[in-house]
Order: sequence, then structure tokens, then C-alpha cells
Amino acid sequence: MNIILFGPPGAGKGTQAKYLVEKLNGYQISTGDILRDEITKNSEIGKMIINDMNDGKFVSDKIVNLLIKSLIFDPQKKGKLIFDGYPRSLSQAKNLDKLLIDSNQKIDFIFFLNVNKETIIERIKKRKTIENRTDDELNTILKRYDTYMVTTKPVLDFYSKNSNFQEIDGSQEIDEITTKINAFLNV
Ligand code: AMP
Repeated sequence: MNIILFGPPGAGKGTQAKYLVEKLNGYQISTGDILRDEITKNSEIGKMIINDMNDGKFVSDKIVNLLIKSLIFDPQKKGKLIFDGYPRSLSQAKNLDKLLIDSNQKIDFIFFLNVNKETIIERIKKRKTIENRTDDELNTILKRYDTYMVTTKPVLDFYSKNSNFQEIDGSQEIDEITTKINAFLNV
């Protein structure tokens, strides 16, 4: 099953992605993790994206689309893709549609974890004390939320017409969200 977890930063996409990977024997495609990895490796891409990431800005569609292409075409991962943080712009959503058609796949479920701004700020502040992510400073959180509202909301409009789109209240406890997702998946 291919699944997209969609929602603002701090909605719990990563947490639910990890459960889904375990349950479905899937592969988490977290563009945030992939990009942080490039920075840690100090690769050419890492050097190009570090400032934007620390500023809470989006990395260019071109770089992100390039990084995920080989994962979508990987025969081992085919039909087991759990997208976490991708697509995040209309251009990425259209790119994903094309890559899926070209690799003869489809998305089975799109789960939109909907959370309000106040809950996000509280959650990300907490995450900063645990994971110490440099982009979890309050100012950066607010910028990331604004970026989400401007760039990512159109993706929501793009997907919300699909019959496999499901909105879930992301302010619930982690277990409650997992139970709701499992009910849709029938697992
Ligand atoms: P995340 O771990 O998903 O919260 O992503 C952390 C940061 O990585 C974001 O604030 C962006 O700077 C960058 N990023 C992650 N995914 C994408 C994406 N699909 N498109 C552009 N930038 C991204």
C-alpha cells in the first residue's frame, strides 16, 4: 500500500509514518530526514540547502524531486511507500503523480492530519527539547507554519477531491490517531 501523510509541521506525520512502516513492512519517505542527511554528510546538496532549512524555508522542488525519484522507482519499495513530508507544494504533487504513473503505481490513502497553530507550537517546542533540531526554534516554527499555509494548502485542495483522501483530527493522542488510520486501512 502507498500512503501519503499530509499536514503541517508538528502534526505527527513522522510518528504515524514509523507505525505504518512497521505494520505494513513499508518504507518511510521522509524528505526532511533525507535532506537533514545530506547536511550531515556535508554533500554538495547539503551545502546548497543548509541555510534554507535552518531558516524554515522550503528546499527547491528541483532538489527534492531529484532525491525522491530513485526511491519511487526502487523495486523493493514499490507499493510500500509511506510519504512523510512530501509532496509539500503543488508542483511536487504533480511531479509525484507523474512518477507514480511512470512507475505503474498509485496512492491508496492520503491522510491529512489537521492540527491548529497553537497545538503545533506547543508540540514543536517539546520536540526541540527531545531532538534538538535547529529548525525547531519558535521563530522558525512560525515561519515553517506560514510557509505551510502558503505553499502546502494548495496541495490540500488538489488532494481533497480524491476519494482516498481522509481528514483526521491531528490534535488527538498518538494512539487515537493510529487507531483511526488502522480502521481506514482495515488492519
Ligand atoms: P520536516 O522534517 O518534514 O519537518 O522538514 C524539515 C524541513 O526540511 C522543512 O522545513 C523544509 O525546509 C525541508 N523540507 C522537507 N520536506 C520538504 C519538501 N517536500 N519540499 C521542500 N522542503 C522540504
